[in-house]
Amino acid sequence: MNFLEERIVKDGIVKEGNVLKVDSFLNHQMDIKLLNQMGAEFKKRFADKNINKILTIEASGIGIACIVAEHFDVPVVFAKKSQSINLDGEMYVAEVESFTHKCKNNVIVSQKFLSEDDHVLIIDDFLANGCALQGLIQIVQSSGATVEGIGIAIEKGFQSGGRIIRNLGFQLESLAIVDGMDASTGQIFFREQDAE
Ligand code: 5GP
Repeated sequence: MNFLEERIVKDGIVKEGNVLKVDSFLNHQMDIKLLNQMGAEFKKRFADKNINKILTIEASGIGIACIVAEHFDVPVVFAKKSQSINLDGEMYVAEVESFTHKCKNNVIVSQKFLSEDDHVLIIDDFLANGCALQGLIQIVQSSGATVEGIGIAIEKGFQSGGRIIRNLGFQLESLAIVDGMDASTGQIFFREQDAE
């Protein structure tokens, strides 16, 4: 098990409905040392990429993305969620369905902060069905920028997002891939990955 998998086993809580709660260290209270380790690991996995911007989505991606950005020495842009369709012409907009909140949001990024010159690493805390990621990819592509890679803390490998995104040809790196969870016992099963 790698450092993140060990922490998930120690402090993660399996909830009904295929939800893994990691709010004691990742997306509510945040363990900055752990986030730093994650940043170093993403830097290693994307070492051959010329990344000049990190893109994430509010709210829970922001903390992780900021620490990762420190390792790449680049700025972070986060997509804002908005119910409003009353947007002016200077925004990139994509529609995203929320796995946890079961609703649809427009996610928006100002055109000022993404352009065809950008080489983007997308970062998020979870990958489930891939809706959030597909929204972010769509935003990058509408700006003319390049998606250099995607870094995820926890991928739920039993949901379809990882397969869809990899099939699209993107370099998707998930630090922990959960292939199964049992809410009655609290057991979590990880996919074997190459040792770091
Ligand atoms: P997707 O769009 O891939 O279906 O879902 C990704 C988003 O849903 C992530 O940004 C994350 O915030 C949230 N999410 C999905 N599954 C889980 C989960 O098991 N636990 C938590 N805490 N968030 C999740």
